[in-house]
Amino acid sequence: MSNLPAMNAVDFVSKRLQMVDQQLITRGIADPEVLAAMRTVPRHLFVPESLQAEAYADTPLPIGHGQTISQPYVVASMTEQLRLIHSSKVLEIGTGCGYQTAVLAEIAAEVISIEIVAELHREATKRLQSLAYRNVKTFLNDGNFGWESEAPYDAILVAATAPDIPPELIRQLRDPGRMVLPVSERSSDLQQLMLITKIDGEVRQEQLYAVRFVPLRGLSSGE
Ligand code: SAH
Repeated sequence: MSNLPAMNAVDFVSKRLQMVDQQLITRGIADPEVLAAMRTVPRHLFVPESLQAEAYADTPLPIGHGQTISQPYVVASMTEQLRLIHSSKVLEIGTGCGYQTAVLAEIAAEVISIEIVAELHREATKRLQSLAYRNVKTFLNDGNFGWESEAPYDAILVAATAPDIPPELIRQLRDPGRMVLPVSERSSDLQQLMLITKIDGEVRQEQLYAVRFVPLRGLSSGE
């Protein structure tokens, strides 16, 4: 037993609302659906128990297996870039703890989420089920291949960095569709968050801002 006073549910709710006001709204996140989702999803239930008190801090946190749950602002900002509507079908690569998955599932009709680490996949699947996210399907696979049988997707979100945009993901993106993903720069250890849009058969790329994600494993790293 620890001597620290336990945080109760009300403390977590007030921390979550504060997170939205201080970290998201002040930095320009404005989509009401995204803000509502970030006010709803209990982020503290997605991190290891020992880190629950820090779950709403302005930072990424370790979730085991050398992986991290992204900073709240990055989750909100990537979600906002996808311009989801209630009928959207979304593909997520890198389920991790399932937090971003839950945020997407609050807004979209359906979320397909792919994870390459078996234990993370298993734990996230259990967690999302216990929180009653019925519009989520999770699969254990290398996300470089997307998930063909459910394609096309209105939106794709990749939570790990590749040196190139996996061509299979561009193929599985609907026209019109939007994809956000971090891409590494060959000449430096910088990563850029990229927005890919497909419209009228044309694929365009736009650099958004510098980020730091874990590497996308599998194909591109030669594993
Ligand atoms: N959105 C997640 C972020 C997890 S970090 C969260 O909020 O928890 C990135 C995740 O991508 C890790 O769980 C990592 O195991 C996974 N990953 C890395 N390479 C992958 C690949 N090729 N296919 C699927 N998942 C991958």
